[in-house]
Amino acid sequence: MQETNLSPQRFIRKTFPVGPLQCNCTLLGDTQTGKAIVVDPGGDPEKILAELDALGLQVVGIYHTHAHLDHVLAAGAIKARTGASIHLHREDKFLWDMLEQQCAMFGVPYQAQPEPDQWLEDDQALDCCGVALHTPGHSPGSTSFWFEEANLLIAGDTLFRRSIGRTDLWGGDYPTIERSIQERLFSLDDAAVVVTGHGPDTSIGEEKEENPFVRG
Ligand SMILES: [Zn+2]
Ligand SMILES: [Zn+2]
Repeated sequence: MQETNLSPQRFIRKTFPVGPLQCNCTLLGDTQTGKAIVVDPGGDPEKILAELDALGLQVVGIYHTHAHLDHVLAAGAIKARTGASIHLHREDKFLWDMLEQQCAMFGVPYQAQPEPDQWLEDDQALDCCGVALHTPGHSPGSTSFWFEEANLLIAGDTLFRRSIGRTDLWGGDYPTIERSIQERLFSLDDAAVVVTGHGPDTSIGEEKEENPFVRG
């Protein structure tokens, strides 16, 4: 579990792996308003809801970095229990619509999900805090979430510690992910913590120096 008390206690974030492919799910909460968002509820809805209860936060939005099966499978269960709305970039709608096929390909039990409630736009403000950055390449609708006040980026499968997301799945494209990382992510503060889609956190500065796939 990776956990930080950010920005003099105002923002809380908790990241933990969920689901069969161990996608990192992140809870980001504002202690002043008591509101939180869930990013990438890929499975284990009971675990996610228990963590939210323990933090005493009310979920107001469910945000997806992209619509690969391992990042979405608990969205419907969390929406049903909390009433929070589901957000996704429209360019990943085709992946959301082919969830059953994705599950079959990866041998993961399929669970139908409700339609997203809102399509994310580039630079759009999120319900609790932060903004969406459209960073296509891993998938056409891949989106990162930037929390300036907390100096924190949630990158989904776009950027990993010393690696980047694969581009051989539906709609993936290497020159596009390279451009997204160089132009949108590497222009952020070097000290910003990066929450990745799988595995440990990193920082923008470290990846600019050390990432073997994309030059800083
Ligand atoms: Zn993915
Ligand atoms: Zn993933």
